Parts: sequence; structure tokens; C-alpha cells
Amino acid sequence: MTTSLTTDRLAGFVEKAPLERYVAPEKPSLVGLSRAELADALASVGVPASQRKMRAQQIWNWLYARGATGFEQMTSVSKELRAALAEKFTLGRPDIVAEQVSVDGTRKWLLRLPSENPGERPHEVECVYIPETDRGTLCVSSQVGCTLTCSFCHTGTQRLVRNLTPGEIVGQVMLARDRLGDWSGRPAPQGAQQGAAQGAPEAAGAPKEGGRLVTNVVMMGMGEPLYNFEAVRDALLIVADNEGIGISKRRITLSTSGVVPNIARAGAEIGVMLAISLHAVRDELRNELVPLNRKYPIKELLDACRNYPGLTNAKRITFEYVMLKGVNDSLADAKALVKLLKGIPAKINLIPFNPWPGSRYECSDWEQIEKFSEYVFNAGYSSPVRTPRGRDILAACGQLKSATEKLSARERMALRAMAMTD
Ligand code: SAH
Ligand code: SF4
Repeated sequence: MTTSLTTDRLAGFVEKAPLERYVAPEKPSLVGLSRAELADALASVGVPASQRKMRAQQIWNWLYARGATGFEQMTSVSKELRAALAEKFTLGRPDIVAEQVSVDGTRKWLLRLPSENPGERPHEVECVYIPETDRGTLCVSSQVGCTLTCSFCHTGTQRLVRNLTPGEIVGQVMLARDRLGDWSGRPAPQGAQQGAAQGAPEAAGAPKEGGRLVTNVVMMGMGEPLYNFEAVRDALLIVADNEGIGISKRRITLSTSGVVPNIARAGAEIGVMLAISLHAVRDELRNELVPLNRKYPIKELLDACRNYPGLTNAKRITFEYVMLKGVNDSLADAKALVKLLKGIPAKINLIPFNPWPGSRYECSDWEQIEKFSEYVFNAGYSSPVRTPRGRDILAACGQLKSATEKLSARERMALRAMAMTD
């Protein structure tokens, strides 16, 4: 009820204004700091200028390469410095409120983030880990809620919006590694099931490359990453740094609904793989599905894609296309889509619509999705359909947190789980 009312009220708006700011906790975490910021933190506890760079590199290594969760683990750092740091800082990641493990090995963490005003309810976002035979993908959130109001997306109906900090974004990758025991030379904490050792069959066969479980990151959780540009950029540069977490830029994908000016910035300043939430081939329909299209129409969006640096047949842009019954799923749409993307090194990712209570769309019939997929495949595009994963824990990439809202059992059942499986 509330959901549909909110949706109706939002219809016609391109975006809403963010209501919340981030207020730093009294004792800030070092997680999410760059080398330069770590050097500043060291300066603040009295480390002389001549030592800062070297010490910052040491802490960087403990933090991002070894996943230290407490200053006492930093054995190569003097006791005095550890104590001085512990006095002013923490190594905190976002608080985990709940962890759910699916029979297929998918894991979902519900995270609590501080809200703007003391006494107000904290925010919650989710982060999902999807193990497959050759990779393990972590779906990460960039905002609490979203200022945009895509008509098929549950996140877009949420009133409260605040940007995540770089620490809260990097922290999602770190807590996934913590819980999976995925730091080199560090076992999983007590109580955490080890993905490779005790997990479900799929998890047991999970990524072997370098022995790592989290091999890929997708910015496809809550929020529009290009509306939180600086924090997402700073966080992803830390995640990609090969002296730390070390997930290569080729294995990080940023999904955007089409914030055109920031696409070029993403290319220049971040350089990760790009996914575009296209969902429609005509401006009239896209204006309705993705209202931001009124600001940045399809032609401008595709021009920005053509200019994205480094595109080759091996490095393509992913175009996401949610399958909405009777809305955008005809063969004529498929033909127009192929025509539209001509000349852009592209992959097409068909996403079965994931319904939520109050949503006004239905998922296309399976035969129609297959027909659509076959057409784009025959036109030369790989067109994987995201297969549902983690159904039993309702891990839904792209519209996270819905399952934690108060829903009836039937509504819960209606929330179909799916994930990015490219
Ligand atoms: N804001 C960004 C990234 C988060 S959404 C964006 O829009 O790209 C990640 C993907 O999930 C997007 O392609 C989004 O359009 C899609 N999505 C959102 N709600 C969905 C739903 N109910 N069913 C299927 N896909 C959905
Ligand atoms: Fe925001 Fe993406 Fe949802 Fe649109 S689809 S409302 S941009 S999270």
C-alpha cells in the first residue's frame, strides 16, 4: 500500500533530493583511506613527516592486503604507534546485522550504517556474494536508497537517501573477505562458514584463480554509483590496487542508469568496466522506465558509450535490459536494440523482472525471454539471461533490501531472486 502510494507520488519526477548527509562516527575507521589519507591520519597521531610514507604503506598492507581487523594484529608496527592509532581510529567495517547463506552458496549480508541524526533509526543496505564455478561476484551498494525513480525498481521508491562513504563501499568488500576467510594467510573468523571448505557444492567449486573467493565486484546493489562519484571512484581505486585487495579493473563493473556527464569521468578517472541500464529502445518508453532519460536521452547516452575509453571486442560495455511483459519485450524491440547498439562493442544482459509488492509490471514469459535472447544472439551478441540465484534467501541483485521490508509470506514468495551471472 505505502509502496504503491510512494510510487504514484514519485511518478513524473526525474529525481528526488537526497535527504541525509553522512555524519562521521566519533572514532573514524581507517578502512577506505587512500595512502595519502593514511599518511594524514599518521600525522594526526604525531608520526614525523619523514616516516609517514613508509608507515602509511605498512598500514595499507595490513589493512588491504592482509585484512587486519584489529591494530594488535599489525605486528610489524611498534606497540606505541598501534596504541596511538587505536586511541583515535578503528578498523571498522559496516556492522553486519544478519548473514544468510543459500543452499546454492549465495550469501547475503544485511548491513547497518549510521543515519544522520542521533536517535534516528540506522540505515540498512545489503551486499551479496554469488559463487560460481570460475568466479565469485560481490554485488556492492553505493547509496542508501536512490535519488532516481525508475518505475520498475524498488530502491527508487525509498524515501531516505544518503551516499555511502568510500570506507562503507570498500568495507563491503572487506567484510565479504572477512566472512569468507578470503584474506591471504588469514582463516575465517569463528562462526563464519568457509566458502571453499564447508560451503554448498557450488561454493566448494568456487573460484580457484589465485585461490580467491571474491574475484569480481559489481556496483549493482542499491543506489546510482555515478551520483556518488567521488566516493565510488576512491573506493574502486582502492579495491583495484594491486598492492592491496587487488581485484583487477577488468573484473569490476559499474552499472549506471545513464548519468551521461559522469560516464566520461568514470572512463578517465576510474577505468572499470561499464554496464548501462538501458531497458528501452525508444525515448518515450525509456522516459517512463528510467526518468533520468528525460535529462540524458538515448542518443546522448549511446554517444557517451561510444566514447568510453579502451573499448574492444574483448572489453565491451554491458547493456542491461529488464524484461517487462508486454512493455519492452517484443521482437521489434529486440531488432531495434540490435540496430541501436551497432558499432558499440557490447554485451546484452537480459534481466528477468523481479516483482515487488505494488510494482506495476510483470516479468515477461519465459518463452518470450528466450525468443528475445535468441534474436540478439543470432545478431552476434552474447546475451546471457541472469539466472535466479539464492532464491531461498531472496538475494536479489539490483533491488536489494526488499526482502527485509515487512512483507506478507505471499509477497516474499513473489520476490524472485536473481543475480548477475554474465
Ligand atoms: N542504479 C544503477 C545500479 C543499481 S541497479 C543502475 O540503475 O544501473 C542494478 C540493475 O538492476 C539495473 O540494471 C537495474 O535497472 C536493475 N533492476 C532494478 N530493479 C529491478 C527489478 N525489479 N527487476 C530486475 N532488475 C532490476
Ligand atoms: Fe536507482 Fe538504479 Fe533503481 Fe533506477 S534502477 S531507481 S538508478 S537503483
